[in-house]
Amino acid sequence: MAILFISDLHLDPARAQITDTFLGFLAQEARQAEHLCILGDFFEAWIGDDDPDPHHARVMAGLRDLTDSGVPVDLMHGNRDFLIGEGFAEQTGCRLITDPTTVELNGVPTLLMHGDTLCTDDLEYQQFRRMVRNPEWQRAFLAKPLAERRAFAAQARGESKARTQNKAEAIMDVNQQTVERTMRDHNVTQLIHGHTHRPAIHRFCVDGRPMTRIVLGDWYEQKSVLQLTDGNMLLADSRVTG
Ligand code: MN
Repeated sequence: MAILFISDLHLDPARAQITDTFLGFLAQEARQAEHLCILGDFFEAWIGDDDPDPHHARVMAGLRDLTDSGVPVDLMHGNRDFLIGEGFAEQTGCRLITDPTTVELNGVPTLLMHGDTLCTDDLEYQQFRRMVRNPEWQRAFLAKPLAERRAFAAQARGESKARTQNKAEAIMDVNQQTVERTMRDHNVTQLIHGHTHRPAIHRFCVDGRPMTRIVLGDWYEQKSVLQLTDGNMLLADSRVTG
């Protein structure tokens, strides 16, 4: 029995093929799992639990089938779907977990994060994040009509795309000092996150202690799943070697 970690699926009605891949994953691989953990940016955009989008409804039904079958599913917010709320959790049977969350995996203290808060070199993004994560901003946003929220999400995505095209690659990756400080502060030796779309397993030392940082890959064109079985860890992603 394995614990599975995924993130950055960016599920979107415009990319139906990946949604089909994901629903197949839920019905087969995930059914055999002990636990499924989704670390953010599950949806490309989420404008509120009251959005009746049929694509989202299909994904939610798939999650419901999985949780009904007895597989617990934990879900963490990403920077695209931070408005997923308790209504979603209730309908799907998923449990919303906070970013960061500390767990023990095979006896290893591990920190789970989406990863965007580690990209501290991107000051412009961190400022935007502070605005949209403010509970008052969120209450006001969710009170707007769906059409207006949809327009805002589309605009924000367009702006983010334009900005990231002009940014150096390094700025949009994690800051190593922030990674080390975060791991030290939470007293963990392992970190699992997504967000950067740079799937890899990094090993380094902090204060002489060996540390591991596992980066989950995006699902734009293929699956990316971290499989954890007794004492064994495999990042199943064809972009990662070794
Ligand atoms: Mn992200």
